[in-house]
Amino acid sequence: MSEQPTQGVSRRSFLKLAGLVGLAAQAGGLVAAGNNAGKSSESYTGWESFNPGTQFFNRKPFEFEGPAHSPVSAVRRPSHLTDYVFGRVGTFQKFYEKHPEWKLGDPLEDLELPPYLIEFYSKFPERLEWDFKTFSETIPNNMKDRKIYENYYKLADAYSEGFTAHGRSLPRPQAPPEISDFLKPLSEDKQIGDPVPFKSPDLAAEFIKEMAHRYGATLVRITKTNPNWLYSEGWRGCPPDYDFSKMPEHWTYAIVMAVPMEWDVIIGSPQFSTSYDAYDRVSTAATRLVGCIKYLGYPARAQTPMTGYDMIVPPHAVEAGLGEQGRTGFCITAELGGNARMAIVNTNLPLTIDKPIDIGIADFCKSCKLCAESCPSGAISMADSPDGMVIRGYEHWYINNGACYNYWRETMGPMGCRMCVATCPYSRKDNWLHDMARKLDPRDPTGVVRGSLLWTQKNFFDYPKAEEYHRPPVGHFASYRPEPPYMVADKYLDIPITNPNEGG
Ligand code: SF4
Ligand code: SF4
Repeated sequence: MSEQPTQGVSRRSFLKLAGLVGLAAQAGGLVAAGNNAGKSSESYTGWESFNPGTQFFNRKPFEFEGPAHSPVSAVRRPSHLTDYVFGRVGTFQKFYEKHPEWKLGDPLEDLELPPYLIEFYSKFPERLEWDFKTFSETIPNNMKDRKIYENYYKLADAYSEGFTAHGRSLPRPQAPPEISDFLKPLSEDKQIGDPVPFKSPDLAAEFIKEMAHRYGATLVRITKTNPNWLYSEGWRGCPPDYDFSKMPEHWTYAIVMAVPMEWDVIIGSPQFSTSYDAYDRVSTAATRLVGCIKYLGYPARAQTPMTGYDMIVPPHAVEAGLGEQGRTGFCITAELGGNARMAIVNTNLPLTIDKPIDIGIADFCKSCKLCAESCPSGAISMADSPDGMVIRGYEHWYINNGACYNYWRETMGPMGCRMCVATCPYSRKDNWLHDMARKLDPRDPTGVVRGSLLWTQKNFFDYPKAEEYHRPPVGHFASYRPEPPYMVADKYLDIPITNPNEGG
């Protein structure tokens, strides 16, 4: 074909030029695409790849005007001394050790318990039965079991210890809120500076959420602190004669954050999982956020699993719209289900608050019951509805925390159980199937999606029966799923190991 000039450029030259332009355009497109991809947090390779983007469920269509909780009878604040299981059993243990001959049926006065505990046990006798069983039977048995089986769980214990060792070093408030919340971090006398004004509460909330994610929080939402959910006494740094009846004015807001326990560890529940990985991480995130807020001149106090709580978290999490209250009593979140360990940061920095959500979790709990069926201690109610169950003035599924704690002291590995977390259908990873279910279910008015998912989980997946989680000979210290490969002590450790699953 002869060369034909085209507007002063030969056809061949034109085609070459066009090819080059095309290539350049493609290369430019690639560069732009590469540039965009590089800017996306999905391309991050370190810890930060898990941060912005973790809160991926769009709650907007499911928000409603709160409050999500309304009292149904006279409200009583929770007590650190009785309702809070560690406070109660710690006191019981102290007095029982002084009177080891005491048994159920003997007068409570013989134990010389403080009057408030006598009154509590008289009202809730089943708590006394469980607390007595814990110290008279379960813990002594557990000490024997540990002599035989402990090495089998050595690496699970070591994993947990790494987190507790760090979490225990986080600072706790050493003075009442009116003093410590206004001091610079780790200082006994240096006051925070003047508040730096934000342009709007919306922008302040946006910034605070961004920081919380950067500091390690997987989920974060904001609500107002509710005085009904403060402990009735025993706030950190406060003397016994402190006036606990009023909420400190600067605790206006509750920034609620959540972090999951490691997924491959949690499914090794009860014996191989630990709460302390998430406890440590969420406590660290909250401590960092306190530092950030104080630097900007606003008072702040962290309520965390590692440094203690002056208030209860689940109802605040529900009001903030992290999720809904489940049969287990805790907040079942949209992204993490029940696998969400939580902390709060209180402050008076003006923030736009979030709304509660309804994605059908509370309703689903009425028919699901998986957690109750798998609970080794029977602590979770099997009722069809929480109607008529009232705790401290609010409707609430009944949870027997004495029974639950008793089983914690029976388990091997790091203390605790967490089976109710491992079995909950909402506690699932972020893969396409679960992601699709999360989006479809709340939009399905027929209930077909949830019905099919529940049927699938109950019929297609095999897992141990509740009694198998108990000590031999009733059970064999079963776990929901095998432990993660890095916790197989037999592979790594040169020590004698007895496996309870093999009838050792
Ligand atoms: S932690 Fe275990 S014993 Fe306690 S309520 Fe959950 S499943 Fe039951
Ligand atoms: S396991 Fe089922 S009943 Fe229990 S909290 Fe989860 S969804 Fe609700």
